[in-house]
Amino acid sequence: MQDTHISLAHGNGGRFMRELIDEIFARHLANPGLDVQADAVALPWCADRVVITTDGFSVQPLEFPGGDIGGLAVHGTCNDLAVSGAEPRYLSLNVFIEEGLEIALLDRLIASLARAAEETGVKVVAGDTKVVRRGEGGGLYLATTGIGHFRTPARPAMNAIQPGDKVLVSGPIGDHGIAVMLAREQFGLRGDLASDCASVLPLTRALLALPGLRFLRDPTRGGLATVMHEIHAATGLGIRLEEPAIPIRDSVRSVCEMLGYDPLYLACEGRVVALVSAENADTALQTWRELPQGQQAAIVGSVTAGGPVSMLTELGGERYLEELEDDPLPRIC
Ligand code: MG
Repeated sequence: MQDTHISLAHGNGGRFMRELIDEIFARHLANPGLDVQADAVALPWCADRVVITTDGFSVQPLEFPGGDIGGLAVHGTCNDLAVSGAEPRYLSLNVFIEEGLEIALLDRLIASLARAAEETGVKVVAGDTKVVRRGEGGGLYLATTGIGHFRTPARPAMNAIQPGDKVLVSGPIGDHGIAVMLAREQFGLRGDLASDCASVLPLTRALLALPGLRFLRDPTRGGLATVMHEIHAATGLGIRLEEPAIPIRDSVRSVCEMLGYDPLYLACEGRVVALVSAENADTALQTWRELPQGQQAAIVGSVTAGGPVSMLTELGGERYLEELEDDPLPRIC
């Protein structure tokens, strides 16, 4: 890491954030038994059946079309348990409130958090509240820790991925990123687009029951391309995506074209990327498409024995997909 001070790009899920985690947090806190690539980890003294994860939320604005920071604080954490193959059960909640926040707004956000918890089947069982002085916080920050358990023997993991496996996404990408961006007044744009912020449990439960499932991840910060890079970095395998197959809403595509964003790097908050063996990929796709949240699921690429993360373009060329560097949209989750 060459930087001497933290920048917004250290929070974007891309190269700078990976370096920050490797060189500060992992250097001091590394645990040889821990899978540092995982979304959630099993606790060995609970016979590897209890799983834990944690996440912080600083999205701006606090409410946006299709969601708010309250729902996000539940789904963001529970979805990490879900893609690990676990069932979420309990949450802790840390609340950092900035002096001056409207109490009616706080009430709406916590009501939304409670609704999301109820829908997901989790209970908030521990919490803490801090208030910071005006100007020292972005209105409201939340942090949730999620505890879940494995109900099935399936343990999707990155090291199970093999050359030839197919890459599936459960629905259109980039909705959350663009919906939050459009909700920021500074852009002066308005669209009818809503965040996809939701529980992915129905999607993960459906695939955990199928043979050939290798790996699941929710493409949040850094989007689909970043998940592909995480696989590439951890396994040395290559990935070739196929641009025409990737589901992207026209409205997302046109905002991206107008403002110069690449939807492959935009956050989703209710989608799943699945790596499935070639012979089981069509069954997995059909299983997803039968669910309301998987109707636009697609097979978008495959794993290669080596080589880069790339994409066959609409025009038939091959485009190398870089690891994310600059933060296209800070404070998106
Ligand atoms: Mg995740």
